[in-house]
Amino acid sequence: MKHESVALPKLSPGLEPRLGIWRFGAGGHGPRIYIQGGLHADEAPGTLVAHRLVGKLMALSPQDILGEITIIPVANPIGLGQRILGTLIGRFALEDGRNFNRGYPDCTADVIARLEGQLGSDERANTASLRAAFAERLSVMPAEPIPAMKTSLLREAIGADYVLDLHCDTEAVPHAYTHPASFERLSGLFRLLGLKAVLVAEASGDHPFDEAVSGPWQGVRAHFAQHPMTSGGHAATIELRGQADTGPELIERDASAILEFLQHVGAIAGEKPALPDFDLTPTPLAGCGLIPAPASGALSWHRALGVLVKHGECLAEIIDAEHGIAHPVLAECDGLLFARTNLRQVSAGAKLGKIAGTETLRAGTLLGP
Ligand SMILES: [Zn+2]
Repeated sequence: MKHESVALPKLSPGLEPRLGIWRFGAGGHGPRIYIQGGLHADEAPGTLVAHRLVGKLMALSPQDILGEITIIPVANPIGLGQRILGTLIGRFALEDGRNFNRGYPDCTADVIARLEGQLGSDERANTASLRAAFAERLSVMPAEPIPAMKTSLLREAIGADYVLDLHCDTEAVPHAYTHPASFERLSGLFRLLGLKAVLVAEASGDHPFDEAVSGPWQGVRAHFAQHPMTSGGHAATIELRGQADTGPELIERDASAILEFLQHVGAIAGEKPALPDFDLTPTPLAGCGLIPAPASGALSWHRALGVLVKHGECLAEIIDAEHGIAHPVLAECDGLLFARTNLRQVSAGAKLGKIAGTETLRAGTLLGP
């Protein structure tokens, strides 16, 4: 095990953010794994699970680490320092209002250009060339702190076979977002974590971290289809329930599930775990209902998280107590109510929750702000 503390460009004189990086394994024959938590700095469950996982890996003997595992439990030290009047603003950069999980570079075209004429028929050699091209593309460190942090994270992740970006929603049952081509390769993880929904999209339109990994792997391999390459870059944004779900039992359960996944894919030694058998069918991100608030007022939910709802069903009421009016909040599609806002005073038009529907509802940019 190796721990590194990597300096990012200073925010101001005397204020230097750093990334703490834990590395396990000497790059043997097992797969490469990258795991980060807290990219949205106000989402503690991912950081806690990553921390617990580091402890579990430290307890193993070094020869039981068969792959190469990199973990960054605090992926966004800049966001973690953004407090206004005691409130942590961890999702958006105060500097420009951008979501910390949007706007990652798409390396596909550059990497294809670098690899033209460089590949042959050897899968291992081709894959090594691909990883070298990714590393070279991301070798230049931007001078600004936030772009430098994003580049550093992506550079650590992009060569991995499996990338787990640990997040949470405001209130939610466990769920994930991934590329359709990665669903099967990650379904063992999803089952071990007991996910209730998995939403898939080839590109959500806003370049989140997971797609900045999976997109180039898919794009480059498709472009060089005649040259064999390992199927890597299987990345997912894992939403570990809600922001308040930080109890020790949940953290232990999720960290243990990820450890079992590492056994499942051969990154650590041990008997492969039995995978829980339950129906887990991915649904399109374009079919995710966002439940816009029909009015402003106090929100009272009538439906619990994790229930199946029907189109037109009343999910909640918004009470305009000034006028004595109750506005029903109706489901815009059939599906699983998997996330809800944790706010209870809401404005008209605000997105109140998420329903995993099976039919396409939306096009264009598919993720929320
Ligand atoms: Zn998040």
